[in-house]
Amino acid sequence: MLPPIADRFVAGESPAEALEHVRRLNDTDVKGIVNLLGEHYDDREAVAADAAEYRRLVDDIAGSGLAACISVKPSQLGLDIGEDVFRSELTAIVDAAAERDVFVWIDMEDHTTTDATLDAFETVAREHGGGVGVCVQANLRRTRTDVRRLANVPGTVRFVKGAYEPPPDIAYTDGARIDQEYRTLLEYAFEHYDGGIAVGSHDPAMIEHAKALHERYGTDFEIQMLMGVREDAQYDLADEYEVWQYVPYGERWKSYFYRRMTEGTDNLRFALRAVLQS
Ligand code: FAD
Repeated sequence: MLPPIADRFVAGESPAEALEHVRRLNDTDVKGIVNLLGEHYDDREAVAADAAEYRRLVDDIAGSGLAACISVKPSQLGLDIGEDVFRSELTAIVDAAAERDVFVWIDMEDHTTTDATLDAFETVAREHGGGVGVCVQANLRRTRTDVRRLANVPGTVRFVKGAYEPPPDIAYTDGARIDQEYRTLLEYAFEHYDGGIAVGSHDPAMIEHAKALHERYGTDFEIQMLMGVREDAQYDLADEYEVWQYVPYGERWKSYFYRRMTEGTDNLRFALRAVLQS
């Protein structure tokens, strides 16, 4: 059992708890992106164990009839050990998922992993003609070029501002500049992509921008937010748009939970209120 407060951001320690959370979400028309927490493995056994759990999760999702998909991290699938390890585990998961018609997202980690992640995405996306998505980070200076490259690849692209802090020669560091870049990237995608756009942001201004671009270009898009963040907005948006919630679970919940606590004053305010009321 997760302690109170943590259970706002993490669905539980087991896949069954994660899918139970998705079941409740689906009742509000929000769909679930299930993520087994884990990253930066230097041990082949840990990689194999998480990869096997993802393949079981794919079966469970397919058998459950839930509106759900999965999201994996490259370093969870062995990228720190070797690109070949990551590619072979990713391919096995995507093959299994394609057979069961379950979508697979690939999260984007720090800037040293961008090339390997995009290359692996492109390979599996072309092989399956879609069914996979990858995340791009607006704070990276290279992303405009990446987004142009991805226009010709089947699959879906999740646009985020970027959760990592690369050095200034690699990334924009000013918040307003990152917001401006995010808007520009979305504009390019709505104009040139044939659908396959996911707006991964809690920022009302970015979501309004996406809605306006959708009106202008008619391109389809979906909105993605994290479990525990602006959930009321997620339910409201789901009345009109396709909304997916990123649902993390697993025994390694502590570092994910502390990250949520330290990154946003709203999260912190919520946590303090919950502690005072308990
Ligand atoms: P921010 O710039 O943090 O905030 C802008 C505004 O949004 C705030 O002023 C406020 O109005 C509103 N807001 C934000 N947080 C809250 C809150 N807690 N409560 C109320 N209002 C709030 N990053 C990666 O680097 N790689 C990934 O693979 C990745 N995947 C992601 C998947 C999803 C589904 C999401 C939602 C994010 C993901 N991220 C990923 C994280 C992302 O890069 C950002 O760090 C994170 O989403 C914060 O940026 P933001 O656009 O949500 O808004």
